[in-house]
Amino acid sequence: MSGLFDRWRTAAEPAADYHPPMPIGLQVWLDDQARVLRLAGPLRSVLALPAPGAGRLHDYLQRRSWLVIEGAPADWQGQPLDLDFHGVLGQPLHTRGWLLRQSEGWMLQLFDIGDLLHEHASTQQQQVEQQLAADISRALRDCSEAHLQQTVSEQLQRLAEHWQAASLQLLLCDDQRWRSYARSDATWPWPDPSRLQPWLAQLPVQGLLDGPASAELQALCADPGLCLLPYRQGPQVQAWLLCAGVAMPLHGEPAQALMQALLQPLLGHLHHARSVHQARHLQQLQQQLGAGWWEWSLHGPLQLDPGLAASLELPAQVSLEQWLARLHPADREPVQLALEQAWAGRELSVSLRLPGTDAPRWLHWAGQLQGRQLRGFILDVSALKAQELQTSAARARLENLIASSPAVIYVQRCSDGALHSEFFSASLQPMLGWAADSEQARQPGLAVHPDDHALWLQRTRDLLREGQARCRVRLRDSRGGYHWILDEARLLRDDLGQPLEVVGLWLDVSEATEAAERVRQSEERYRVLVEDSPAMICRYRPDLSLMFGNRPLADYLQCTPEQLAGMDLGQWLSPAQRAAFVERLRQLTPEQPLSSSEICLQLPGREHAWWIWADRGLFDEHGQLLEIQAVGRDNTEVRRSQQQLLQGAKMATLGELATGLLHEINQPLNVIRMATVNTIKRVENGLAEADYLLEKLRRIEAQTDRVARLVDHMRVFGRRSEVEREWFPAWAAVTAAVALLEEGLRGKGVSVQVSVPDEQPQVLGHQDQLEQVLINLLVNARDALLGLGRRDAAISLHQSLEPGSVVLWVQDNGGGIDPQLHERIFEPFFTTKPAGVGTGLGLSVSHGIVSAMGGSLQVSNQGDGACFCIRLPCHSIS
Ligand code: ADP
Repeated sequence: MSGLFDRWRTAAEPAADYHPPMPIGLQVWLDDQARVLRLAGPLRSVLALPAPGAGRLHDYLQRRSWLVIEGAPADWQGQPLDLDFHGVLGQPLHTRGWLLRQSEGWMLQLFDIGDLLHEHASTQQQQVEQQLAADISRALRDCSEAHLQQTVSEQLQRLAEHWQAASLQLLLCDDQRWRSYARSDATWPWPDPSRLQPWLAQLPVQGLLDGPASAELQALCADPGLCLLPYRQGPQVQAWLLCAGVAMPLHGEPAQALMQALLQPLLGHLHHARSVHQARHLQQLQQQLGAGWWEWSLHGPLQLDPGLAASLELPAQVSLEQWLARLHPADREPVQLALEQAWAGRELSVSLRLPGTDAPRWLHWAGQLQGRQLRGFILDVSALKAQELQTSAARARLENLIASSPAVIYVQRCSDGALHSEFFSASLQPMLGWAADSEQARQPGLAVHPDDHALWLQRTRDLLREGQARCRVRLRDSRGGYHWILDEARLLRDDLGQPLEVVGLWLDVSEATEAAERVRQSEERYRVLVEDSPAMICRYRPDLSLMFGNRPLADYLQCTPEQLAGMDLGQWLSPAQRAAFVERLRQLTPEQPLSSSEICLQLPGREHAWWIWADRGLFDEHGQLLEIQAVGRDNTEVRRSQQQLLQGAKMATLGELATGLLHEINQPLNVIRMATVNTIKRVENGLAEADYLLEKLRRIEAQTDRVARLVDHMRVFGRRSEVEREWFPAWAAVTAAVALLEEGLRGKGVSVQVSVPDEQPQVLGHQDQLEQVLINLLVNARDALLGLGRRDAAISLHQSLEPGSVVLWVQDNGGGIDPQLHERIFEPFFTTKPAGVGTGLGLSVSHGIVSAMGGSLQVSNQGDGACFCIRLPCHSIS
């Protein structure tokens, strides 16, 4: 540039004494104070003239040119002057010239050097930009991956300075989306990436969007001087550069060159980083899979992928011998043969084992001839092999199971809604005698019992509709007999949901079905039995509400069997009976679930009913009583006859007693009569003294008392016992019986020895009945003693206590009872007494009474006589 000027100056510079006005450029005549005297030349028209009154050369010039014209014009001579004038349109007018001495003053001869300057400036600009591009490119090439982003930011900063932009932002395409990669500075208020992102999303990867940014983006960045530069390689846009605060749009080659300087190394870096990452990833993957490449050139060694070689514990290069030695002996020959065929051009695909400490390692060795080399890969398939082994073991187990299963397992194929048998397990033959390829096996429906045809068709329909079915049908075996078969089948569908095949099994349930039928029939029989039973049968809950009752029970309770459910069984019991009933149930346990007793009910329309009632408790697994099953029998008639029998026995005893009683009553009557006769005589003779009379009257009173007492006791025999039992001291019955008979016995020479006990426990029952028992025993003892006629005839009575019981003893010395008769004497009507004397009822009735009180009556021979023992459960000691 300067050379050009020099040349131009050399050619154009005139001699100092020659100064004709030149028709080109601009001529300015000045005085010695640099005041402008005159202007000439074509450039004159483009000058902006100063304000009137301002006539110095300075006023025409831009300020930076003032330095050139310091001092007076005389000082400016002999040197080129570069002066920038104010242009008429505001633009500077660049001129160069020199000062010529005139006769008066000076003349400046100037030429327009605007074009030259512009050329010079753009050349400089190019140089600067080339330098900048080289710097940027170098900076990016030299930087490490770790500093890449930082370096890009720095280079963006340089670019921003160069372009005099406020801020630059580089957008790169990542996974089909534009993202901000770096910014020139962190301070410029770029919008938030999340706000920028929707706009970035519509930025094309392929496209021509170029130049000024859209109004939308400008609004987003609040910057009118926003421009968007693409960087393309081929048709694809690789990057966008967002430039904010630029004075003029940036485009054209220089901008592209700088972008290229930035982006080419950057994209190269990123591409390399991606490749390295992918290679590392691949390597890791290969390591995980135990896979890797191999190569083998003819006559050369086997080359292995280093990672693979390490995992196989081999060097990266191995000879054929080394390779074979590493393999399991059993695989060496197959490998050699496969290798030979591979060299001949066949594909290599071999599974081989490497011996390991516990299990061999399985490899898949694959490859093919490429040119003069075998190439391929090795893959660790141990896991697959292990699975394969497991699967085949499981399959073998399953097949074994199917073969040995008593059930028939079958597979039917579906085609066009019909099922065709494809497989039957081996148990088909033993179960139905069918061969797997027989006609029945192909179409089992043909062997279905005619009565079950509908069921079988329904099963097929259900199967196709619901996907599974279960039915029980009869199938004819090869000998013509029928088997009850439980068929369970499932439908398998293909990926499209179309029915594919049916897998099912048959179980021979003939025995179970027949057993169930037997149970049903037996249940029916039992139901009839329960319904028709004369006994009352019912089930009720622990709160006494009935769950079921049969007809006899309903008849007694005067309702229908249906009405029984829910009724309260306790409503017919007296409070005391009900309490005793509930208490008895409370004592039922899973170990002792049975209990029975006689219960007394007040039934509608009847006086009293006595039922013999047997209960069985049913318990849950926690021992909780759930329900009670009971069987009852009406005992009212039996009890009534017992009562009558008792009454009859009483009467018989009364008869027996009558003779003795007559004597008993006669004696006091005789005494009374004698006393009365004597008294009358005395009174008639006038000898009646008060003392005498008093004494006689007292005797009469005493004898009357005795008779009255006898009669009192005799009333017992005419009375029927109360319906319900009550508590009374057992000894009271002894006292009463002895009082009745003692006198009579003594009169017959039998002494009665009574040991009155200190404690007199109470027993539950009817006192008159226990008295009856004791009277019977005393009468029998008397009879035995009178038969012997011994002088020391005696009956002794005493009481003893046992835990929970009171025992009354009646012993005589009347010779005892033949031990062989000990059982029989309690039988009704057994007697050894002469006809008309004995009834044979005394002991049997007594036995019944004591049993009804929950006690026992026993006999044994003690000393010279019989000893009867009444053992009764006692309530308390009183
Ligand atoms: P009965 O007194 O009318 O014969 P029981 O049933 O009272 O009927 O007695 C049955 C039999 O038992 C008597 O006939 C008698 O042979 C025998 N027996 C009962 N008590 C005694 C006794 N204390 N000593 C001997 N024999 C007795």
